[in-house]
Amino acid sequence: DNLTVLLDESGIKRALTRISHEILERNKGVQDVVLIGIRSGGAFLAEELAQSIAMIEGAAVPVGAIDITLYRDDIKSHTSRLPVGKTEIGFSLQGKKVVLVDDVLFTGRTIRAAMDALMDHGRPECIQLAVLIDRGHRELPIRADFVGRNVPTSLKENVQVIFSAQNQPLEVVLEK
Ligand code: 5GP
Ligand code: MG
Repeated sequence: DNLTVLLDESGIKRALTRISHEILERNKGVQDVVLIGIRSGGAFLAEELAQSIAMIEGAAVPVGAIDITLYRDDIKSHTSRLPVGKTEIGFSLQGKKVVLVDDVLFTGRTIRAAMDALMDHGRPECIQLAVLIDRGHRELPIRADFVGRNVPTSLKENVQVIFSAQNQPLEVVLEK
């Protein structure tokens, strides 16, 4: 297989630092901002963004995680699928500025399902979307507010987001 490195560890770090600044700028700080990562990659990245925001702003943002496996509208048989993780949102989203975080944005179906699931946790003031990679091929009218890198891909290609055993992002590779 043909592998191309799209982002190395420092490239990912720079992208996440920029996105952190953009989140702070858009929301004029961290007041009412919460991060919700989509398991599994997005949840790891949400933790990274929270650390980065804490470094820049000196303030903590609540972080939650959501598992949307069972909400996917394109998975026909839910009974044969078990959730890969748990949804852990230990706070109300009422009136919050929710930043959804995922590793790769593709058709947009995962984000649609995530927004659906979030509404069970209160009515947020707004929902924004941060992704490390936007690989195109949207099937729904969904776009990201914060993007690490836009990567035009073919449908046959796959983006590998590699994490360490400690869930630190190490590398993003395009697999042709
Ligand atoms: P979508 O629902 O937008 O079609 O796909 C997005 C979800 O599937 C994300 O949670 C993402 O983790 C995963 N995904 C889709 N395409 C890729 C890809 O090329 N590489 C990786 N690593 N994940 C992908
Ligand atoms: Mg995923």
